[in-house]
Amino acid sequence: MSTINQSGWRPTTPEAGEASGATFTGNRALMLEEPLIFEIGSSDTTGVDFGEMPEGKSRLGGLERKSIGLPGLSEPETVRHYTRLSRQNYAIDLGLFPLGSCTMKHNPRLNERVARLPGFADLHPLTPVDSAQGAFEVIDQLAHWLITLTGMHSVAMSPKAGAHGELCGVLAIRAALEARGEGDRKILLVPISAHGTNPATAAFANFTVEDIPATDDGRVDLEALKARLGPDIAGVMITNPNTCGLFERDMKAISDAVHAAGGYVYCDGANFNAIVGRVRPGDLGIDAMHINLHKTFSTPHGGGGPGSGPVVLSEALTPYAPLPFVEKDGAGYRLVEEETAGEHHAGTFGRMVAFHGQMGMFTRALTYILSHGADGLRQVAEDSVLNANYILRSMEDVLDAPFAKSGPCMHEAIFSDEGLPEGFSTIDIAKALIDEGYHPMTMYFPLVVHGAMLVEPTETESKAALDQFIGAFRSVAARARNGDPSVKTAPHFAPRRRLDETLAARKPVLAWKDPDVAQAAE
Ligand SMILES: *Cc1c(COP(=O)(O)O)cnc(C)c1O
Repeated sequence: MSTINQSGWRPTTPEAGEASGATFTGNRALMLEEPLIFEIGSSDTTGVDFGEMPEGKSRLGGLERKSIGLPGLSEPETVRHYTRLSRQNYAIDLGLFPLGSCTMKHNPRLNERVARLPGFADLHPLTPVDSAQGAFEVIDQLAHWLITLTGMHSVAMSPKAGAHGELCGVLAIRAALEARGEGDRKILLVPISAHGTNPATAAFANFTVEDIPATDDGRVDLEALKARLGPDIAGVMITNPNTCGLFERDMKAISDAVHAAGGYVYCDGANFNAIVGRVRPGDLGIDAMHINLHKTFSTPHGGGGPGSGPVVLSEALTPYAPLPFVEKDGAGYRLVEEETAGEHHAGTFGRMVAFHGQMGMFTRALTYILSHGADGLRQVAEDSVLNANYILRSMEDVLDAPFAKSGPCMHEAIFSDEGLPEGFSTIDIAKALIDEGYHPMTMYFPLVVHGAMLVEPTETESKAALDQFIGAFRSVAARARNGDPSVKTAPHFAPRRRLDETLAARKPVLAWKDPDVAQAAE
């Protein structure tokens, strides 16, 4: 029999409650237990009163369904259901989000205000260009600042995420090679310190991926890279700062060598917040680099979107940039499309999106850039690096920090599970952090570090917030080091305990089955 009664509770007897520390409702203080909507709703309940349907003759030949079995609730029950679920979520507006490589930082409310101005928010993508001049001016101004901040030649604004930007850059590289009659350069070299999307993008665009090893200090092995260059190499894809949280100091030497061998240099610039205002990728010889507007220039993200990944391009790759893009002439802004491209853009590889890109994120990013100004953006980079180094140095006596000797880190600090007692691993520390009220850091990535813990505090956390996080992180790490068995069973205070995440990923159960029906079928 189903243990769920009509109202969806899982009642425990008072005696059982006393013995197990459970409550009658399953709630714990204000942490509310909430069943699935299928368990509490029924198909004959609804929040809306419809009049009786008039009898009509069906034209569906008996194929119509009387009910599709969707659960219904009254309006207040619906509101409570989703509000209760939302309270089981963690968000940047609740606390520090140390996910490495994700830049989960505060999103200034001013950005939201501007993005919601009806002139931007309500604009239809098919609005005639004459009636959308303000929006095109925003795109053009943002493009100007992205080019200025990176020291590059042009920018393709339309890609809709970091990985989408990578695809844009790699397709531009392919178009440039084909235009030179060297389309048989099929290999992209990807260092093992690159973000996982880099080899995935290269493979998706039909290149063959070859690894380049890292040196012991966590950077690209320049000699190994030089040794592999030749007439079959299309180029390299390098994440800088890399996923070990380090700046690739040899970037200029790498670019020079790759160019001399006829290849192009793609740089993954998702973590531009670590260097904005301090380093111009154009000065390092880069040909294409995406910028994650949703990381460096704010915009809330996570849970799959929205994203925006403009790609800055060198002069060599500019002719191959995707359409459309915005140009200004005497009459105002205009949109360069296939029909109007002319010989100037004859090399374009095509287009990435149906329209112009993510307008809501363009307005947020431009607001962010203009409200910070040149000095403010430079401080973004300085504070993101300072905060990460503060965490690195505050933890290195309780957790192994494999690159602590390689010099200061950039925007993220990396630790390993080296030195934890037998049976204890990174996941135990991550789960115990949930009990402390924190979303865990990035785990087991990058792959070059055993049991990696990658922590990015971001520039928007105060010293007080960092100290509290460090206190929790140190306490959990020390308990793991001392072999405290309760760390192995954490989290103890979360609505759910330790789940079999591998099983959930490999065999996800995505459809609800009525337990009574399932039982009847047995
Ligand atoms: C986030 C990230 C990406 C991917 O960006 P998406 O917008 O999620 O596609 C790529 N590279 C690095 C280094 C990143 O941090």
